[in-house]
Amino acid sequence: MVNNFHTHTYRCLHAYGTEEDYVLEAIDKGLGCLGFSDHAPFPDKDYGYRMKYEELDSYISAIDILKEKYGDKIKLYKGLEIEYHPRYSDYYRSLLNDRGLDYLALGEHQYTIGGEIKNIFFAESTADYTDYAKAVCMAIETGLFAYVAHPDIMFINNHEWDDRCDEACDMIIECASKHDTILEYNANGYRRNKQLFADGIRYPYPHERFWKKAKDAHIKVIVGSDCHSPDQICDEYMLYGIQEAKKAGLELINNIF
Ligand SMILES: [Zn+2]
Ligand SMILES: [Zn+2]
Repeated sequence: MVNNFHTHTYRCLHAYGTEEDYVLEAIDKGLGCLGFSDHAPFPDKDYGYRMKYEELDSYISAIDILKEKYGDKIKLYKGLEIEYHPRYSDYYRSLLNDRGLDYLALGEHQYTIGGEIKNIFFAESTADYTDYAKAVCMAIETGLFAYVAHPDIMFINNHEWDDRCDEACDMIIECASKHDTILEYNANGYRRNKQLFADGIRYPYPHERFWKKAKDAHIKVIVGSDCHSPDQICDEYMLYGIQEAKKAGLELINNIF
């Protein structure tokens, strides 16, 4: 059975569809579980590509209403995809404990290093990959995150493969292994075209070399659709992702709980 724990909504301002649109599509496609993980706001600052902080309560209550309405047809979970910045540690806890979220997915698009916030989509060199990996490890160590979304997202950048690439992969995989944390094999990478990179023609992610290491370390892996419109919940890319993850010999799970 296909489940998906990586779902966005119109609220993040770069995805389409209401929570209910996603639920109806998921039921139509026969999913057993659907987890919402829209891009989380932070209370004091808008970091972009995410819902406004003022939207958070209505996002949560919308999912609560849908849990009631469709509970006999599908299991729904309310989560958020969020970056880890150490100074928000109370905020993460309050999301889980006070606002009652079922889970947080670590989507480390931005990361804190040396007190500065950087964006992994604009890595200047592979030195930024190891900094990103350090930040991911710090996040894993908090135990706040149910899984790491697209852990290999650094390979969206076009840099030659070098020792630091290996080092960044190894750091994340070793840390995930030590803390028994799930890594996500992200189907959205397949929705971005195959491109010519310095290390060959490939999709930006999932990156084969990362997942070979994850396989050898027996990491638990979940495939995430990372859908930004309802029709992507279980589309050809999600199915291709599942097929490729199986082909790669990964230890697939289909539920993060
Ligand atoms: Zn997004
Ligand atoms: Zn996402």
